[in-house]
Amino acid sequence: MDNSEFRAWSRRAADWGVDYRDTLRERPVRPALAPGEVFRAIEVSPPETAEPMERIFADFEEKIVPGMTHWQHPRFFAYFPANAAPVSVVAEYLVSAMAAQCMLWQTSPAATELETRAVDWMRQALGLPEGFSGVIQDSASSATLAAVLTMRERALDWQGNRKGLAGQARPRVYSSDQVHTSIDRAIWVAGIGEENLVRIPAPGRFRAMDTVALEAAIVSDREAGMLPAGIIACVGGTSTGGTDDIAAVAAVAKRHGLYLHVDAAWAGSAMICPEYRHFWAGVEDADSIVFNPHKWLGAQFDCSIQFIRRPEDLVRTLAIKPDYLKTHGHDGIINYSEWSVPLGRRFRALKLWFLLRAHGLEGLRTMIRNHVTWSQALAARLAGEADFEIVTEPMLSLFSFRHRTGPGANPDEHNLRLVNAINDDGRIYLTQTKVDGTIAIRFQAGQFEATAADVEAAFDVITEIARRPT
Ligand code: PLP
Repeated sequence: MDNSEFRAWSRRAADWGVDYRDTLRERPVRPALAPGEVFRAIEVSPPETAEPMERIFADFEEKIVPGMTHWQHPRFFAYFPANAAPVSVVAEYLVSAMAAQCMLWQTSPAATELETRAVDWMRQALGLPEGFSGVIQDSASSATLAAVLTMRERALDWQGNRKGLAGQARPRVYSSDQVHTSIDRAIWVAGIGEENLVRIPAPGRFRAMDTVALEAAIVSDREAGMLPAGIIACVGGTSTGGTDDIAAVAAVAKRHGLYLHVDAAWAGSAMICPEYRHFWAGVEDADSIVFNPHKWLGAQFDCSIQFIRRPEDLVRTLAIKPDYLKTHGHDGIINYSEWSVPLGRRFRALKLWFLLRAHGLEGLRTMIRNHVTWSQALAARLAGEADFEIVTEPMLSLFSFRHRTGPGANPDEHNLRLVNAINDDGRIYLTQTKVDGTIAIRFQAGQFEATAADVEAAFDVITEIARRPT
């Protein structure tokens, strides 16, 4: 591709992106296709000779786009959002054009220094005190892995990486039973082992871990010769928004000298609004916090911020300095690859910087407040219908519900059928979870371009399909 074609196709791609966003409401949120359809539509072997871009682009439109689930669709109410505000897409075009490798300060000084600044902007935006540094990781899973490795190394007096875990006291990590599976993965990958992740029950409306049980588990583990290493608390759990009492958990962590990591991957974005910060009161005492601007805030995937109280502990855990990576003559600089598991890093700060400047914190706060208001209004409407029940009350913009069944019907089968029928219909997209062993349907409003009418439309679709004669 020569430069004039590069220009023409870049323009065409940008135009395509705008038309795509413009027409999202007309598309089914989730495609109606069977597994294997796209695979079969792609040539079995790569071409030996160059193909014209027109044909490649036409295949993209015909074979790929109809097989996509549209995460930017304003009526995507499943999982959590993965918002890509248009301005962050523009920033990503620029990042793609430069295709920088941001592993060391000297491999992209501006990316490194903007990352330091943008992370500190976010710290201020979330109301976190000075004293937290931070890094942009690819995902919350990576941030949590980095935190678990750090808590492990701290507990093992920095000997785990060197000597391995065999023959050492068993590090123990504590969390509620509401945390995301990225915590399990981090425990596996860190070699701690699932049986050393202690699940503390989380009863009550907010499914907050029982801190009396937490403390008792730590004490009894220590008496048994194990090595309590850290606690992972959760603000806005994936299933139903489970939220720990961070101040109470932090007090336990402090009493026992344990590392505290807070997973606020989804709910963290809402903390730009002061009125929601009570959900993580006490967070200033955490050792690290992860939140994903790539979920609700609008910074295109991937963009996950890990705030860290003592970055020197993280660097001591992860940094390796072979001769070929040494940066001579630059003291006091940050090489962010020493703060994360992968060496190579994308330039992720640019989209965050563009987003914060183009919308301002007030613009983003309005979006979040709208989502919370609209979602809570929908929960109230469904609660008013005799054939629906709210299973978990809204945590910010996330709640779960069930359609009641007639006598003799199986409620789980009925609600799974309902969620599948809703998704096959294509006007909205929802997912299910289990609450106390029983299926419930999750609803979250969080799409960057959703309107009140989009959320209201969900009421019509849900009630219409639930009441259809079978
Ligand atoms: N933590 C919570 C609460 C989540 O909801 C998710 C994903 O939805 C994750 C962690 C993992 O996030 P990521 O996909 O960035 O690894």
